Amino acid sequence: MSEVNQPQMDLVVAIDGQSGSGKSTLARRLAQSLGWAYLDSGAWYRALTWMALQQGLNLKDEQEILQMLSQTKITSQSDGTVLVDGSVLTEELRTPLIDVSVSDVADHPMVRKALTLQMQMLLAQKTVLGIVADGRDAGSIIFPQAALKVFVKVPLETRAKRRQAQNEMAGLSSNYAQILGSLSQRDERDAGRGTSAPRALPGAKVLENHSVTVEQAIGCLLNWVKAL
Ligand code: C5P
Repeated sequence: MSEVNQPQMDLVVAIDGQSGSGKSTLARRLAQSLGWAYLDSGAWYRALTWMALQQGLNLKDEQEILQMLSQTKITSQSDGTVLVDGSVLTEELRTPLIDVSVSDVADHPMVRKALTLQMQMLLAQKTVLGIVADGRDAGSIIFPQAALKVFVKVPLETRAKRRQAQNEMAGLSSNYAQILGSLSQRDERDAGRGTSAPRALPGAKVLENHSVTVEQAIGCLLNWVKAL
C-alpha cells in the first residue's frame, strides 16, 4: 500500500463514554465540523447483533457469531452509517431489543478482535483528512495512537432522560424506568469488560456533557483539536 493511503494516526480523535452520554452526537458533529470521517463503533456491534438476531443465532455462542461475521461484510460511510452486505442499517439498530442484546455479542473477546480489525482495515484503506472514532474502546483498543482522547461524562439519570426523549422522537416505545434499568445494567456489564470497559484513559480530556449545549460541547472539542 502506498504511503498516501496510510491512515494518519495523529489525526484520529477517539471519543469514549458511557451508553447514552451523547458521545455519538458529539463525534458525528465534530467530524462534520472538521470535514473528517466518523466511525460509530457501537453501530458496528449493533449491526452484528441485528444480523445474529435475524439469523436466529444464539448470541451467547461465540463461534456462531464468528462464523456469521466471517461471511458478512460490514463497512461504514464517512458519516458513520453502517452497511451490512451493502444494505444501510439505521433505525433497526436503535430498538430496545438491540439495546438489551448487544452486550451479549460485544462480550465475546474473539468477536471484538475480529470486528476491531475490520474497523482498522476500513480506515487503513481510506484517504481521509482525519477520523473521529466513537466507542467505549475507541481510544484504548481500536486507535490507541489517537492524538486526542476524550471521555464524555453524564450522570445515569440524565442519560436515561435523554434516551427516553430520543425514543419518543423516533416513535419508539419509551418507559423511563425500563430505560434507566437497561442503561444501568449495560453500565455494569460494560464496566466488567477489563481493558474494553468505558473509562477515561490516561491523558484523556474529560468532557462533562451534563449542563452544556451540544454547540458548547462541540466548541470545547474543536478547541482541543486546534490545540493539537
Ligand atoms: O455506543 P452504543 O450505545 O451504540 O453501543 C452499543 C453497545 O455496543 C454498547 O453498549 C457496548 O456493549 C457495545 N460496544 C462495545 N465497544 C464499542 C462500541 C460499542 O462493546 N467500541
